[in-house]
Amino acid sequence: MTILCQSSFQNKNQQAGTGSLYLVGTPIGNLEDMTYRAVRTLQECEIIAAEDTRMTRKLLSHFEITPSMLFSYHEHNKAASGPELIRYIIEGKNLALVSDAGLPAISDPGADLVALAVSHGIPVIPIPGANAALSALIASGLPTTSFTFIGFLPRERKDIRSVLSGLRSAQGTLLFYESPHRVSKTLAHLQEAFGNRRIVLARELTKRYEEFLRGTIEECLVWLSEHPPLGEYVIVLEGESKEEAELAESSWWRELSIEEHVTHYETSGLARKDAMKKAASDRGLAKRDIYNALLEKE
Ligand code: SAM
Repeated sequence: MTILCQSSFQNKNQQAGTGSLYLVGTPIGNLEDMTYRAVRTLQECEIIAAEDTRMTRKLLSHFEITPSMLFSYHEHNKAASGPELIRYIIEGKNLALVSDAGLPAISDPGADLVALAVSHGIPVIPIPGANAALSALIASGLPTTSFTFIGFLPRERKDIRSVLSGLRSAQGTLLFYESPHRVSKTLAHLQEAFGNRRIVLARELTKRYEEFLRGTIEECLVWLSEHPPLGEYVIVLEGESKEEAELAESSWWRELSIEEHVTHYETSGLARKDAMKKAASDRGLAKRDIYNALLEKE
């Protein structure tokens, strides 16, 4: 492996005339969350690349920033647009990447541009700012020591189930992004996968109608059925509790049929008779019930 060392505060265009890629955080609603450094960087960069140029124009005009070049970079043009932007940076231009809101490269195609820049040895400089997931987490009241950011779930039911089943035993808090049209459906998926855990629905963060709904998944579903969802949501879900972890550990066999359960013990070296005895004891059944179930299978 080759170690590449980038020192942000020394490399200001020192690399033979190459520019840098600046990742500029912008507000997630409240314009007062724009940082001085973000404004200065956007003023100084020769190119600004934005997910939605119309939205970014509004932000720039609010801060009286006149971009020399505003470039569109989004999911549907990133394959062509990415290499073009990299060429500009290699030619010596500094480029600022902004997302529609919050931090670029979080639930948007920015990460692809960053990877491309890194592969060309271009300095990448983060200009931190607001972020919806972390703002929701810190105000949620749920544990913050360990957390996993999931972002948007996939669209297909089977893909959703597969992602969620992989997270069932995650012990840290889980963070999801969701639109108002899908939030109830997503909560129903979460309930199916995790049971009635505690959640916090953080809505319209930093905006006028900012709201935190704290309760169980079931309680929040009832609330949403009475108060139709509006605005943008972060779902903060409590991780697996100690009790849930212990229960999962003691009932590892739950997904197995009786036959598979007995076979499991046999393959681990027990005689069939002892394997049946162990399976019976795990399941709280009499050995005779195991025997009968196996006979039915034959
Ligand atoms: N880059 C952004 C960030 O750093 O948070 C996230 C962009 S992602 C495309 C958009 C999603 O973020 C929304 O669907 C919503 O789930 C969440 N989001 C953005 N702004 C929000 C806000 N003000 N309140 C709650 N959620 C928000």
